[in-house]
Amino acid sequence: EPRPIRRALLSVSDKEGLVDLGRALASRGVELLSTGGTAHTLRQAGLEVIDVAEVTGFPEMMDGRVKTLHPRVHGGLLALRDNDAHVAAMTEHGIGEIDLLVVNLYPFEATVAKGADYDTCIENIDIGGPAMIRAAAKNHAFVTVVVDVQDYEKLLGDMDQHDGATCAKFRKKLSQIAYARTAAYDAAVSTWMAEAIGVETPRRRAVAGMLAQTMRYGENPHQKAAFYKDGSTRPGVATARQLQGKELSYNNINDTDAAFELVAEFDPANGPACAIIKHANPCGVARGETLTEAYSRAFDCDRTSAFGGIVALNQTLDVETAKVISEIFTEVVIAPQIDPAAAEIFARKKNLRLLETGGLPDPRAVATTIRQVSGGYLVQDKDTGHISAEDLKVVTKRAPTDEEIKDLLFAWTVAKHVKSNAIVYVKDAATVGVGAGQMSRVDSTRIAARKAQDMAADLGLDTPLTQGSVVASDAFFPFPDGLLTAAEAGATAVIQPGGSMRDDKVIAAADEAGIAMVFTGMRHFRH
Ligand code: 5GP
Repeated sequence: EPRPIRRALLSVSDKEGLVDLGRALASRGVELLSTGGTAHTLRQAGLEVIDVAEVTGFPEMMDGRVKTLHPRVHGGLLALRDNDAHVAAMTEHGIGEIDLLVVNLYPFEATVAKGADYDTCIENIDIGGPAMIRAAAKNHAFVTVVVDVQDYEKLLGDMDQHDGATCAKFRKKLSQIAYARTAAYDAAVSTWMAEAIGVETPRRRAVAGMLAQTMRYGENPHQKAAFYKDGSTRPGVATARQLQGKELSYNNINDTDAAFELVAEFDPANGPACAIIKHANPCGVARGETLTEAYSRAFDCDRTSAFGGIVALNQTLDVETAKVISEIFTEVVIAPQIDPAAAEIFARKKNLRLLETGGLPDPRAVATTIRQVSGGYLVQDKDTGHISAEDLKVVTKRAPTDEEIKDLLFAWTVAKHVKSNAIVYVKDAATVGVGAGQMSRVDSTRIAARKAQDMAADLGLDTPLTQGSVVASDAFFPFPDGLLTAAEAGATAVIQPGGSMRDDKVIAAADEAGIAMVFTGMRHFRH
C-alpha cells in the first residue's frame, strides 16, 4: 500500500473548487506543486505552492505547450515505489514522488462549442495534461488521480478514512475514470478535426474501438461504412471465425448479430434451436428434436421471407442440417461449432458466409447498448430481462396448460427480439406468425395472423398454423381488439406485460373467448 499522500501536483484549467481542495490538502500536510495559472490562484488564496518550473528546472514555455513534460514530473508519477531500480533512478536523478495528481484539461470541447477558429481549437488541445493523467492512472498502484471536480470531496473523504492515504479500490476507480476522460478528449479532437477538414468516411465517428473492416457501402450503396470492434471476447458476430464466403456487409453484420443473440436465448442443453432473420427481425424461430428439424420448422414459419436470410443455430452445424439449409439461398449461417463435413457441403455455395463463434454468449450477461441520435448518444443497459414460469401471473378464469406455458415462454423470448410492436404466435416451440415493427399493435396481430394463413396455403394445409397457438405481445394490449384478433386467428393463450388502463376490459374479452392469459409485469420494447 502506498504512503499517505504527501506531495500533490495540481494543474487545472477549470479552477472551480480548487482553492477549497488546496486548503484541505494543505491542512492535511500535503505539499502542493502547481503550474502557472493554478499556482497563481492558490497563492492568491494564501496557500504555499511550489512551481513545477522550480521542480523541473525549466520555465513554462511555448505558450504553455511545454509545462510539465519532464522526467522530474513523469518519473515522479510513473516510478514503482516498491521497485529498487525505480527508486534508485529517482534518487540518482533527483526525482520526487508525486502521490496525487489533480488535472482537468484545456477546455477543448467548450472551445469548439463556442465556434472558435481552427487555430484556437488547435491551441486548446491539451498535451501535458493527458500525458500526466495517463501516467498517474497507469501507476494507480501508488498514485491517486483526479480529473473531475466532482471527485474532490470523495478524495478527501477517502483520505480521511485511510490516515491520509487512499484505498486501492478507490484509486482503481479513479484510474478508470481518468482513462475514460482522455479517451473522450481525443475522440472529441478527432471528431472536430474530421468535421474541420471534411473527412467523409465513418472512421471519423469512432469513439472507441478498433477499426476492423471498411466496407464498400453501408445500409445503402450511397453510404460508406465501417465496422469497429470493442475488444469483447464474447462469442458473436464480432469475434466469429469466417470459414468461407465474401466479406460480411453492413446489413449482414447487423442481421447476423440479431440472429445469433436470439438463438443464444435457447440453451442447447434443452435441445437444438434455429433462428432465421431478415431485416433484423426473426421470420422463423424453432426448436426441434434434431437441428435439421429445428431449421425446417423455423423455415416453415415464413418460407418466402426466409429466402436470402441469416440462419443462426444454437449448436454444432451438422451435415444433414447443412444439406437442408443449402437448398435455398441463404446469406449467412452462424453456429457455435461447425462440423468440417458440414462446411464441405457449403463449399459449392461460394456466396454463403459461414461463421463459427466457438460458443454461445450468455444472454443474461450485463452489457451496454448505444444508439446514436443527432448530436449525441443514447446509452442503456442491454435488455437482459428474463421471465420464467414462476414469474407469470394468471389473470383469466382459465389458467394455461403446461404445454401452453412452455409455448408462451418461447413466444415471449422471441418477442424480445422482434421490433415493436411485436406479436409472436407460437405452436409447439416454433413460431407460426410474427408481426413486427408496426405502429399499431392490432396491425402487428393482424399481419402475423395473415402471414400464417398465407403460409398454410403454401403448405397446403386446411387450417392456418395459428390455430391452437399461443401469442406473445411485447407490451400490453391497450384495447381488447388485438387480443380478439389473436383469438379469431385461433390463439388459445396470451402472454403480455399487463399494466394497461383497460386491463379489465382485455381480461374480460379473454375470458369471454375462453383464452388463458398471463401477465409478465415486464415489457420488451425494441426499436
Ligand atoms: P495553468 O492554468 O495551471 O497554467 O494550466 C493548467 C492546464 O495546463 C491544465 O489544463 C493542464 O492539463 C495543462 N497542462 C499541464 N502541463 C501541460 C503541458 O506540458 N502542456 C500542455 N499543453 N498543457 C499542460
